[in-house]
Amino acid sequence: MSRAIDLTGERFGRLRVICFAGTNRSGNRTWRCLCDCGKEHIATTSNLLSGSTKSCGCYHRECVAQMNYIHGKSSTRLHGIWRGMKMRCYNKKSSSYDRYGERGIRVCAEWKDDFKVFYDWSIRNGYDDTKSIDRIDVNGNYSPDNCRWVDEITQANNKRNNNIVIAHGEAHSLSEWSRISGIDRKTLSDRIRKLGWTLEKALEIEPRDTYDHRGNKAKHNHEGGS
Ligand SMILES: [Zn+2]
Repeated sequence: MSRAIDLTGERFGRLRVICFAGTNRSGNRTWRCLCDCGKEHIATTSNLLSGSTKSCGCYHRECVAQMNYIHGKSSTRLHGIWRGMKMRCYNKKSSSYDRYGERGIRVCAEWKDDFKVFYDWSIRNGYDDTKSIDRIDVNGNYSPDNCRWVDEITQANNKRNNNIVIAHGEAHSLSEWSRISGIDRKTLSDRIRKLGWTLEKALEIEPRDTYDHRGNKAKHNHEGGS
C-alpha cells in the first residue's frame, strides 16, 4: 500500500467518490462512487483517473438514447418539419418566405437553436408521424404556446375545420390559408377544386393574374370569375 492515492470526496464526471471499496480480482483498487443520477457504482482508480469512467453507465445510456432519436424515423420526419419551419421564416430564397419570414413569423429561440428541444416538446405534446404542426394563431410564431400537433383526419372531421388542408407540413382551414397567403379564399378553393391544383401551387401564384388550368399566366390581368 505504498503511496496509495485516496480519492475519497473527489469528483469524476458524474461520479463522486464515497469510499475505498477494496481491491478487485485483477488487483486493482476500487472505489465506491455515487452518481449524480442517484445510483452507486464501483470504479477502479485507473478508470477514474483516465476519465474512462464518468458515470454509473447512465451517461452511456443517454448517448444511446440520443443516437436512437437522431436516427429514428420520427426524428427524421420531425427534423424535416423543423428545417422547413426555419426555412420559411429565415431563408429569403424559400418560395414560402413571403408568407412567413416577410410577415414577421419567427421560430422561437429555444426551438430555432436546438432541434432536441423541439423534438422533446413534440413528443410530450402527442406527436406521431401522422400529425402535422398547427399554429393556433396563424399570424403567430412557431412556439410552444402557439403550436399543436393535429391529426389530419380528426381535423377533417371536425366541423369547425371541415376545410383543413395541408401544405408545407402545416394544417390550416382554407380560410386560414387565405389569411396567410393574402389570396382570396374562393380563389384558393376554385384553384384546388375546379382546376385541380395542389394547395402549394394555389398558394404560390399571385392572385392578381389569371392562369389557365396548367398554371400558365393568361393575357388579362384580373382573376377570371368563378
Ligand atoms: Zn448515473
